[in-house]
Amino acid sequence: MLKHLLKQPKQSELQEIEHVKFLIILKIAYFALAVHVVLIPVFAHIGAVTLAIVNVLSVCAWAGGIFLIKQGLTSLALRVFCLEVVIHSTIVCAMLGLDAGFQFYLWTVSCLLMIDYQLTLKRASLYSVLMIIAFALLYVFFSNTNYPFAYSELLPHIKIINIIIAGLPMIYGMGFIREITLSQRLELTEMAARDPLTKLFNRRFAKKLIMNARKSCINNNSPLCMAMADIDQFKRINDNYGHDKGDTILVNISRLISEFMSEDDIAVRWGGEEFLLILTQSNERQAFAKIEALRTKIAALEAHPDCPDLKVTMSFGLIEWQPLTPIEKMLQYADSALYESKHSGRNKTTIVHAQSTFFENED
Ligand code: GH3
Ligand code: MG
Ligand code: MG
Repeated sequence: MLKHLLKQPKQSELQEIEHVKFLIILKIAYFALAVHVVLIPVFAHIGAVTLAIVNVLSVCAWAGGIFLIKQGLTSLALRVFCLEVVIHSTIVCAMLGLDAGFQFYLWTVSCLLMIDYQLTLKRASLYSVLMIIAFALLYVFFSNTNYPFAYSELLPHIKIINIIIAGLPMIYGMGFIREITLSQRLELTEMAARDPLTKLFNRRFAKKLIMNARKSCINNNSPLCMAMADIDQFKRINDNYGHDKGDTILVNISRLISEFMSEDDIAVRWGGEEFLLILTQSNERQAFAKIEALRTKIAALEAHPDCPDLKVTMSFGLIEWQPLTPIEKMLQYADSALYESKHSGRNKTTIVHAQSTFFENED
């Protein structure tokens, strides 16, 4: 389960979330701008001329905020929006009373201030609390203010619309925090699980995965094989082509290994140029065929685009896991089979049984 979660590294997820946040804020800003424009003639029509004039100022504030967003100053724009909402809803409540429900936007602003990461926690908390106090004060000062304009029968509907519109950004804010938290948790797990160069699982994390794979193979009564693999003469490759090219070769071989492995298999960068491959659902014969195919592919791979003539080979030591044998013992066996492949000429796969009998293969 954890392994599948980690299958595709998602390194830019946080930037993606920030980008989505940016787009949503921009959309909300355009929506708010349009609503404020429409409200100018509406207020003028019901006789609330002051409110119509205030709305003109609000339109300027939202347009200014959109301009700031386009300049990349999203945080400043958010503050302009917050200020606009606070001042505007206070004036509207003072003139229309509380029955129209414009006071609920203070709750929205209070929540959104908490996800403005440019503010320190202390400041964001202080401003948020001030919003809630302002909300309470509106009830102290304006709960007896009666709506003095036309269409008073529409007030209950307007209140419901305002409550819904004010509530949606709060849900969005919570969803945003949830996404960030989850993606950060995943990113931390990724960092702890993967080798930074090859993006394969690292040794420390892999042990947990291997024990899980083994448990599920025992439960399902299915075979499991382990192959220790090592690049041949890699020191010489580094010496001849340089360490940087050596790194690229390691990355290219790792990618080929990853692509070659099945969904439930596990590829681990065990050490420098050494890899551990766990082949699930494979008995010795099937695993051998698979490893041989991989070995042939690696030998044919263009290991580095700048060195078309360079061919890199790998040696393998393979063993089928006997369910009751401890992992350390299995690793020792696989290691000894790998040693045998190296010892007898490299670019080979050697099978070992728990009784230490070697079966070699070479081209
Ligand atoms: P053999 O066929 O016996 O395995 O020979 P070898 O040269 O591959 O083995 P040896 O253990 O002598 O050398 C391993 C080399 O792998 C030495 C080391 O510099 C190189 N190596 C290990 N990790 C890295 C790495 O991350 N990047 C690069 N470029 N080289 C690495
Ligand atoms: Mg080597
Ligand atoms: Mg080695």
